This record gives sequence, structure tokens and C-alpha cells, in this order.
Amino acid sequence: MSAKVRVRFAPSPTGGLHLGGMRTALFNYLFARQNGGDFILRVEDTDQTRFVAGAEEYILDCLNWCGITPDEGPHAGGEYGSYRQSERKALYRQYAEQLVAQGNAYYAFDTPEELEQKRTETLNFQYGHTHRNELRNSIFLPVKEVHDLLDAGTPHVIRIKMPVDETIGFTDMIRGRVNFETSQVDDKVLLKADGMPTYHLAVVVDDYLMKITHAFRGEEWLPSASVHLLLWEYLGWKNEMPQWAHLPLILRPDGHGKLSKRDGDIFGFPVYAMNWTDPKNGELTQGFRELGFLPEAFVNLLALLGWNNGTDQEIFSLEELTEQFSMDRISKAGAQFDFEKAKWFNHEWIKQSSASNLISDVIPVLRAHDIFAENHPQLKKIIDLVKDRCTLLTDFYEHSAYFFQKPAENSIDWPSIQPKWNDAKTDFFIAFIQKSQEIEGWNAANIETTFKALVVEKGIKISEVMLPFRIILVGGKFGPAVFDIAEVLGNQEMVERIEFALSILSR
Ligand code: GLU
Repeated sequence: MSAKVRVRFAPSPTGGLHLGGMRTALFNYLFARQNGGDFILRVEDTDQTRFVAGAEEYILDCLNWCGITPDEGPHAGGEYGSYRQSERKALYRQYAEQLVAQGNAYYAFDTPEELEQKRTETLNFQYGHTHRNELRNSIFLPVKEVHDLLDAGTPHVIRIKMPVDETIGFTDMIRGRVNFETSQVDDKVLLKADGMPTYHLAVVVDDYLMKITHAFRGEEWLPSASVHLLLWEYLGWKNEMPQWAHLPLILRPDGHGKLSKRDGDIFGFPVYAMNWTDPKNGELTQGFRELGFLPEAFVNLLALLGWNNGTDQEIFSLEELTEQFSMDRISKAGAQFDFEKAKWFNHEWIKQSSASNLISDVIPVLRAHDIFAENHPQLKKIIDLVKDRCTLLTDFYEHSAYFFQKPAENSIDWPSIQPKWNDAKTDFFIAFIQKSQEIEGWNAANIETTFKALVVEKGIKISEVMLPFRIILVGGKFGPAVFDIAEVLGNQEMVERIEFALSILSR
């Protein structure tokens, strides 16, 4: 029987969560769900210099917002904790020492200054097979000196000893066979002077101890796989090594290079899932959520950055993705990010979402403009009437404000009605006010019938009064069917708006 599928999303809590990180989380999640497996969140916080307070909670909030909640993790708990690497610190040294004892790793006592000096003296310096024999480490120094240094508590790191001239490789689930020449890889640090493991050691030890079976991560980690492969082998765990899938890069809109947060600033679109405030300088970076994206749309657009189901279908719910996700349809080539397309996804999702689903997102959008719509009896109807026009959730303000507030006098498009205004129109609207008050059953169809009958009775053209009617009610040439608007406004509000317009137009 094969082992239960266990995947991990292993971010470093160093700041906002980028689209690429979210997509990695999503693909891990989809694979776990599809295979009845576990989705684990592991916080890789061993680099104390890059640690940022609040980033871990932020990552969890982003995952929850998208509905891809971990089964195990620092908050969910689980049998394989702790799920924060900094809290597992004591665990890693023994493995590093094991590697030293086996001759696969060594102590290195070089100070940062000595290494800096070496770098300035030596062109393209690499701490590896070409130079390790001339540096202050346990390969080069006499055994006695090494013992003395260790006994004296001299700060040191443990480095992997990369073999010379070997070709090593593995089969990536997306890329197929990937090979590395060991001589080209430097002797990476495994355990730092502060006793913390580096990413390389921690990722291997934890994937092993947490029984990870498959690991999806960004293509930028592919070069590191050479070191990881050797560690799996040297630690004697090769048969339990997870299957890796290195996901294609997400590229800038112009296709040139990897999409970075800076590109978002330059091109003017978000790169983070949610708003992120850098605690160091208070700088706020806007996220997709706050810009007005639905989580369904965000998940959908992430999935299509490098995956498709082989048809033209582009709209997928999380459930559909879970059913249809397949490794063999993940592309090797980088996926170009297109913000216009991202907005298209959101528009489609807003259109197909029910008013009940949208209501909790729309209320705060309106509240930000001092419209307190939560108790409005027609709120769902209003959402249904305008949602097709909204690309972002924030657009609900612009497209529905007139239902809640009378258009301000200076915002009404008078130039589109005033030049052609005449007594016949005044007469029509005065009569319409009266007739409207006699309508039994206030609904769009009845309002329309009354309006049109009056047009015939007055012998005017419908086109002469339809546009003025709309502009009087909403302030401009926009909005859904005008009789629907009148229905939602109610008779009294409609009459007030017409009377106000007549008072201005007859001046
Ligand atoms: N901590 C790494 C990151 O920040 C994880 C890479 C991996 O999944 O191996 O993305």
C-alpha cells in the first residue's frame, strides 16, 4: 500500500505573500485534496535576519481567504509539530553532525571578514572543491587544531562537502529528468554559527520527519535540489524522498523576467494576495482582496497561471479544480501574468455569484462611502441589478450609490437633457407623477406600462423622455433598466427625484 499523500506549503515569513507563493500553496492543496491527503503549512523561519513580525498570521489569513486552509500547521496543530522551524532548532544539529562524522560535511571556522577578504582576492570565489583546501575548516586544518577550536567554542558553521565531478539527478513531476554537475555547486552551509539550520538542511530533515510525499515549489528552488538530493542520500533516506514538482515561474506582463513586487508597483497592479503593511517602515502594499477581488476569482486566476484542463474552459471553482487538477497539464514554460485577464476573471465571478454570496463583500464597500446598506430591504435586488457592471467589488459603490443617495445636483448630467427640455416634457413628467401614484402593485412592469401609456396619451416620442427619466433618477447615462431602478427606489423617492429635476429644469 502506498503512503498517504502529504504535501507541504513551506513559506518563509518574510513579508507579503506573492502570487507565486499563493499558487504554490494552491497546487499543493489541490494535489492533497485530490488524493485524499494532508495539506501542511510549515513556517520556514530559520533565517532570523529576514524574520518579519506578523508575516506568519498574514500567510494564514491569505490561505483562509482563499479557502485553502491547512490540515496541519502552527495553528491547526498536528502530530508532526512543531510546524515552525525555529521551534525545532534543537533537532537539526544531530543530522549535521552525522554528516560530518560520515565525511559528507565539515566544520568551517572562517570568519565573515576572512571570507570577504577571500572574495575580493579571488575572482568568482566559491566555497567548494577548488578552494576548500586552503580555508580554515576541518578538511584543511590538522585534527588537533579542529578539536581545540571546537573545545574553545569557536564560532563555526557546518558545510556540505560536495562531491567532485559527479552527475546527480532526479525525475521532476513536471520537468522530467533533471541533472546537476556536482562540481558546479558550492559547499552550502547546513548549520549556521547560531545553531540554526539553513533552509537546505531544515527542508530535508523536516520533509523526512513530517513524512512528506510530494513537494510542489517554485522553479527558483530547482538549483537547490542538487544539495537536497545529496542530503537525502547521505542521511540514508533516499527511498523516502518526496517527489518534487518545480512550478513554472510567473512572468512579468511583458514576459521579461520573473514577476516581482516591484513590477506590481511599476505596472500598477497588486502582486500580494492581501494588503500587507511592512512593520519596519509602515509601507502599505495593496493586495488583490482589498482591490476588490473575490477569493473565487483569485484562486481561479492562480490556477490558470501554468495549468489548464486541455479545453477552452477558463472558469473553475475550487471544487472543479480539485476534481480536474492534473500534473501532466502543468506547463514547463513560465506563465505570463496579465492583469487585464485577472480582472476579467473577477468580472466573470462577480457576474455568476449570487447576491447572497456577494452581500457581505458589498456592504463594506458601501460603508467606506458612508452608505449603511446592511438593513436596506432591497439590497440583494440592487446587487443583482448592477453586478454585471462591476469588474471589482469596489465598483459596487459607483454602480449602486444612486439607489441609496439622491444624485447630487452638481453631479447630474444636465447638459444631456437641458438643451432639449421643453414644456411638453415638463407636462409629461408632472402627469407621470400623478399616474404613478395610482399604480397598484409597484413593480417594473407596471411602472413601464403606465409610463408608456402616458407617452401615447401625450402624443410624444418615448425616446424623448426615456433618457431624461434615467438621468433624473440616477444622475447619468448609466445603470440597469430604468423601470427596475424606479421599482427599487419606490414611488415616493422616484417622485422626489422627478420633482427636484423639474424645479431645476424650469428655472
Ligand atoms: N522556504 C522556502 C520558501 O520560502 C520553501 C521552498 C520549498 O518549498 O522547498 O519558498
